[in-house]
Amino acid sequence: MFNNLSDKLDKALHTLKGHGKITEVNVAETLKEVRRALLDADVNFKIAKEFTKKVQTQALGQDVLTTLNPGQLMIKLVKDELTVLMGGETVGVNLAGSPTIILMSGLQGSGKTTFSGKLANFLKTKKSKEVLLVGCDVYRPAAINQLQVVGAQIGVEVYAEVDNNNPVEISKNAVKYAKANGKNVVIIDTAGRLAVDEEMMKEISEIHKTIQPQETLFVVDAMTGQDAVNTAKAFNDILNFDGVVLTKLDGDTRGGAALSIKSVVNKPIKFIGTGEKMDALDVFHPDRMADRILG
Ligand code: GDP
Repeated sequence: MFNNLSDKLDKALHTLKGHGKITEVNVAETLKEVRRALLDADVNFKIAKEFTKKVQTQALGQDVLTTLNPGQLMIKLVKDELTVLMGGETVGVNLAGSPTIILMSGLQGSGKTTFSGKLANFLKTKKSKEVLLVGCDVYRPAAINQLQVVGAQIGVEVYAEVDNNNPVEISKNAVKYAKANGKNVVIIDTAGRLAVDEEMMKEISEIHKTIQPQETLFVVDAMTGQDAVNTAKAFNDILNFDGVVLTKLDGDTRGGAALSIKSVVNKPIKFIGTGEKMDALDVFHPDRMADRILG
């Protein structure tokens, strides 16, 4: 995960490590390399520029020039700023509500169905919740089958209405069913399209208004870099979602999405997906991710 970014940041900061004393020029040069590493990782230009400016201000404010070990201090400053960039605090999923309704949004192929299963599994095994998975993709019968396979795998009931092609009604009925059957959490998997389109937005926005979920999560493939950020913005404008799920972080992603999304939509990354299996889900901790990036 983020190997390339890690290597480049390590190289950028390495030059300072050997110095007992450094100059303002050393700091500026190092930060230029840091900025380059961020840009290579597909972080937006403005965000990368602001990032290095903040680190520079702090470095000079904390007397980095006279400290005994300037390299270590710079690493700490960059690490702290990376943590802030990725959201600072860990933000969990809101489980208030009886039942708690969680709505999934995102493009087709982003990993919504897989993540719905992973989250159901997580809430069942780690939080002892009775979960109901709901299939609302009425356009692709294969999507409902996929959810049923996932449900069977983790032992979670799946609600679907094969003859109903109205996802708003299905989601409403599913919540009723959950209430009548003692479920604590309802996870609604919705239909995605290959790109943002008006009809998809209208549909998910209607479901959102009707069922008023406690938690609306936006699921996005981290491999799509800057596009991930643009898609997040489009969905957030319509749904004002509560959190982001970054999937496919097990792949060779450059990291730009993880580093930019919080700044652009100001919503926390709550979970990351690190594989296709049902247990490949991690709660997102910005500080631990920053530690990992800086090795
Ligand atoms: P949906 O169309 O948004 O419901 O997406 P799916 O859940 O069907 O996922 C699309 C593809 O991505 C499937 O082949 C999944 O197995 C795969 N996938 C989902 N999440 C992850 C992940 O975290 N890592 C990897 N490597 N693959 C994933």
